[in-house]
Amino acid sequence: MAYVISDECVSCGACEAECPVSAISEGDGKYQIDADACVECGACASVCPVGAPSAE
Ligand code: SF4
Ligand code: SF4
Repeated sequence: MAYVISDECVSCGACEAECPVSAISEGDGKYQIDADACVECGACASVCPVGAPSAE
């Protein structure tokens, strides 16, 4: 399953730069992950200051 960004996201943008497949983009009020592109590397979860991305 792909990673998902929760509503805890504060739109800092840190995860977008870390994603190796550019699956993360700014969405409405928070960042979002393209589930079809995500390779579940966990880099976004590692860099996020609020722990918003998680595997579901
Ligand atoms: Fe990108 Fe990896 Fe996060 Fe998936 S788990 S969105 S591939 S950084
Ligand atoms: Fe949101 Fe975390 Fe990504 Fe920052 S690093 S944009 S808080 S999910």
